[in-house]
Amino acid sequence: MSLFTSTAAWVTDEHRMFAEMAGRFLDDALVPNTEKWAENGAVDRAFWLQAGQTGLMAGSIAEEYGGVGGGMGFDSVTLYEQTARGDAGWGYGIQSIVTHYINTYGSEDQKQKWLPKLASGEMISALAMTEPGTGSDVQAVKTTAEKDGNSYRLNGSKIFITNGQSADLVIVAAKTDKSLGAKGVSLIAIETEGAEGFRRGRNLKKLGMKGNDTAELFFEDVKVPMTNLLGSEEGQGFYQLMKQLPWERLTIGIMALGAIDFAISETVKYVQERKAFGQRVMDFQNTRFKLAECKTKAEVLRSFVNDCIGKLEAGELDAATASMVKYWGSEVQNEVMHECLQLFGGYGFMTEYPIARLYADARVQMIYGGTNEVMKELIARSLDV
Ligand SMILES: Cc1cc2nc3c(=O)[nH]c(=O)nc-3n(C[C@H](O)[C@H](O)[C@H](O)COP(=O)(O)OP(=O)(O)OC[C@H]3O[C@@H](n4cnc5c(N)ncnc54)[C@H](O)[C@@H]3O)c2cc1C
Repeated sequence: MSLFTSTAAWVTDEHRMFAEMAGRFLDDALVPNTEKWAENGAVDRAFWLQAGQTGLMAGSIAEEYGGVGGGMGFDSVTLYEQTARGDAGWGYGIQSIVTHYINTYGSEDQKQKWLPKLASGEMISALAMTEPGTGSDVQAVKTTAEKDGNSYRLNGSKIFITNGQSADLVIVAAKTDKSLGAKGVSLIAIETEGAEGFRRGRNLKKLGMKGNDTAELFFEDVKVPMTNLLGSEEGQGFYQLMKQLPWERLTIGIMALGAIDFAISETVKYVQERKAFGQRVMDFQNTRFKLAECKTKAEVLRSFVNDCIGKLEAGELDAATASMVKYWGSEVQNEVMHECLQLFGGYGFMTEYPIARLYADARVQMIYGGTNEVMKELIARSLDV
C-alpha cells in the first residue's frame, strides 16, 4: 500500500524513503497501541515524543526551526502511513495544520518559540474555531479577545476541539471587534500551561475516533500577550482560516485514502479465509464485484489526492478543488466501509474487528473540516461565476 501513484510528479526519492521510515516506526510504536488508546480516549504523550524523535512531524518545518524543510508532501506521507495502519486516533492532522498556520503567519519570535516544539512533539496543538452555537458559520463566533494593556482578555467557549485535552498550544478564533462579522475575527495562540481562566471540559464521548481526545474549552478572562496574535494586524483571522482550509481539507482526503486501503486489505484477508456453502467468501461473484468496486474507488481517489498534493506544493490548490477532495474522499470512504463491513458478516459488527472501528471512524469525515454540504456549496459557487 502506498500513497503515491507511479506518475505523481511531486514525489521524490526522499518522499519514498520517508514513507518507508515512517511505516517502520508506526508498525512498532503505533499499531500495538491503537486499541489501548481507544480505551483511554487519548494517545500517550510518550508516543508524540517518539514520533518527534523519529522526525515524523518535522517534514514541512524549515531547518532553522528544527525541521527538515521538505514541504507538505512529507506531512501527507505521515498522515497516509498512519491511517493506512487503521489508526484515526493520533491527532497529527491537526498538529500539521497548526504548524502550517505558524509557518505561514507566525512572527519570527513565534516561529522560534513554537515550531521546534511542534516538530519534537514536546508541544501538542489544537485549532479552536467551533463553538457550541456555531460551527459552519465561522464568522459568527462569539468568543471575544478584548485589549487590556499589552494583552488580550479572552472570553468564550469552544467545542469538539481535536487534541483539546492534551493541547499545550491552541490557536483560537476570536472576535477582536464584536461589531464586525468576518473582518472582526482574529487568530490568537494560547499556551495552555499556567493560563489562568483556561479550563478544559470532559473528554467528549464519540461514535468513532475513540483514541483521539476531543474537548470543550472554556476561556474566562484569560490573559494572553498581544504578541500571540497570528499575523501583523487584527481582523485577518477569517482570511487566514480560508487560506489554510485547502490543506485542512486535503488532509481529510488523504486520511480517507489511508483508511480505504487498510479496509480493503483487511477485508480481502478475511474473505479469503472465511468459508460459506463450502467455498471461500472471496469466491462469490458478489464479493469479487464489491471488492473490485472498492479498489477502483481507491485508485481514483489516489490519483485525485496525488493531483491535489502536487497542486498544494505548487501553491495552486484552490478552495473548490480542496472541497472536492474532502467531500468526495469522505463519501467514498463511507461507501467502502459500508461494503467491507458487510463482507465480514456478523463479525463486522463486533468492535474487536478493525472494520467496525473503521466504519465508525469514517462517519465524522463527512462532518468536520467543513461539512460536505458546505463543501458542495463552495464547489457550486465556483461554477456560478
Ligand atoms: C470529532 C470531531 C472533531 C472536530 N474537531 C474540530 C477541531 O479540532 N476544531 C474545530 O474548530 N472544530 C472541530 N470540529 C467541529 C466541526 O468542524 C463542526 O462540527 C462542523 O464544522 C459543523 O459545524 P456544526 O457542528 O456546528 O454544525 P452546523 O453548522 O450547525 O450544521 C448542522 C447541519 O446544517 C448543515 N448546514 C450548515 N450550513 C449550511 C449551508 N450553508 N448549506 C447547507 N447546509 C448547511 C450542515 O451541513 C449540517 O448538516 C470537530 C467535530 C467533530 C465531530
